[in-house]
Amino acid sequence: MSMPDAMPLPGVGEELKQAKEIEDAEKYSFMATVTKAPKKQIQFADDMQEFTKFPTKTGRRSLSRSISQSSTDSYSSAASYTDSSDDEVSPREKQQTNSKGSSNFCVKNIKQAEFGRREIEIAEQDMSALISLRKRAQGEKPLAGAKIVGCTHITAQTAVLIETLCALGAQCRWSACNIYSTQNEVAAALAEAGVAVFAWKGESEDDFWWCIDRCVNMDGWQANMILDDGGDLTHWVYKKYPNVFKKIRGIVEESVTGVHRLYQLSKAGKLCVPAMNVNDSVTKQKFDNLYCCRESILDGLKRTTDVMFGGKQVVVCGYGEVGKGCCAALKALGAIVYITEIDPICALQACMDGFRVVKLNEVIRQVDVVITCTGNKNVVTREHLDRMKNSCIVCNMGHSNTEIDVTSLRTPELTWERVRSQVDHVIWPDGKRVVLLAEGRLLNLSCSTVPTFVLSITATTQALALIELYNAPDGRYKQDVYLLPKKMDEYVASLHLPSFDAHLTELTDDQAKYLGLNKNGPFKPNYYRY
Ligand code: NAD
Repeated sequence: MSMPDAMPLPGVGEELKQAKEIEDAEKYSFMATVTKAPKKQIQFADDMQEFTKFPTKTGRRSLSRSISQSSTDSYSSAASYTDSSDDEVSPREKQQTNSKGSSNFCVKNIKQAEFGRREIEIAEQDMSALISLRKRAQGEKPLAGAKIVGCTHITAQTAVLIETLCALGAQCRWSACNIYSTQNEVAAALAEAGVAVFAWKGESEDDFWWCIDRCVNMDGWQANMILDDGGDLTHWVYKKYPNVFKKIRGIVEESVTGVHRLYQLSKAGKLCVPAMNVNDSVTKQKFDNLYCCRESILDGLKRTTDVMFGGKQVVVCGYGEVGKGCCAALKALGAIVYITEIDPICALQACMDGFRVVKLNEVIRQVDVVITCTGNKNVVTREHLDRMKNSCIVCNMGHSNTEIDVTSLRTPELTWERVRSQVDHVIWPDGKRVVLLAEGRLLNLSCSTVPTFVLSITATTQALALIELYNAPDGRYKQDVYLLPKKMDEYVASLHLPSFDAHLTELTDDQAKYLGLNKNGPFKPNYYRY
């Protein structure tokens, strides 16, 4: 087995262990069949023993640690159709059974199942890659015998993933990685379909851990695969049920935070099973960062402010993947876009794309909108905010809420007025107002929806990573963190091409030889930048 060169990993830092990628296409037995057609640092206390007996609506802080940031960040697209106010009683205190008499779940209201089923069916329309995966794997059941414990957002799109995993032969037990993001009706539909799901919108911290525990700690059922988003489930198993790892064949992790933790475990020599970092797979990165932001920046701004972009002056800080996506959308609507950059390569790209590259100070007095997408901190300072013109809109598309120095605005001389959900007017003593969106948190995740198609890419990547880790022969993966093999990344993309009736050109034998490629891919070296 040849190990290719280590690849630099975006976002996880130099000091972290580099992921390895295995290129040998022949090894992916499942692939060979199906490609015929073209969150805050987690802090656990060791003494966490039991849950609060009486869950409260507000949630008790009695447990031994805080949940990760990702488990509290609101994810509005996921939760938009769910009304959590329909019932005051905690689901943990209710006795519910589905139509087959099973009570192996805990959801807000099983009676919402029919509504949830419709939501899942709508999501399926734009997740045809997963549906085709179900069809292509029919009879083969590449996940037969897999017992997957999952902790992700529970939305219509994740339900399509979970039901795909079941169709491929897996048994699933699922909890939510975020206390606000569960679509209750979708959780009900999953429970009605027989999935052991423990989740509802508005869980307390105590509920959050209780749900995870109910998924892991089950007599007569032991997980052999983990699908995690944020790392909370993985750490729960590490802390409470380390023996479970004897049977676990692998962990698939979705989030930056969770991946970071896995690399830390690996570095400390404490990772005891192979793990797949799907966050950094090429397809997912491009879709999450560039294409998703290109779509959702306008959605987030329009929903919150009703702003018209034609002729508006906008400054975008950072011309990386997210910045490029935002700028493309803004330019298309006729906005005059300025860029700030620290990196001469990205700055030159901005020039080539027809944008003026400036220092923030040079344009701050005249712009109508300021958008940060740097992944950095204090990019927009109090000084900048002081100099903005009246009604300037300020928002952030980067991961952390420190890009705009919002804390500096919490001073006595400034008045805050909440004018809409996620919209604050910060008012200076002279009457000037700055329109601050989502208090400087990620605009699109707070104020708009993420397109189902983007989530389809992620979900398909997760499904393939699970299949790969579950079916890999002993020795292919060690106790380390891996990137999804490029061949699989290409496969995820190819599964989405039929949606566009896109026709891929096939290499001739002669051309393949000339380029030194296998006709079936991978088509690019690891260092290729898409
Ligand atoms: P990237 O590294 O490709 O781009 C960031 C750019 O910002 C770089 O070109 C960098 O040189 C520049 N930069 C850094 N500090 C700067 C400063 N002080 N002033 C001006 N420019 C500066 O990263 P990316 O993929 O574009 O992601 C950017 C951020 O967005 C990250 O925090 C990422 O986690 C987040 N993100 C958000 C979404 C979303 O849906 N909103 C999706 C993916 C990623």
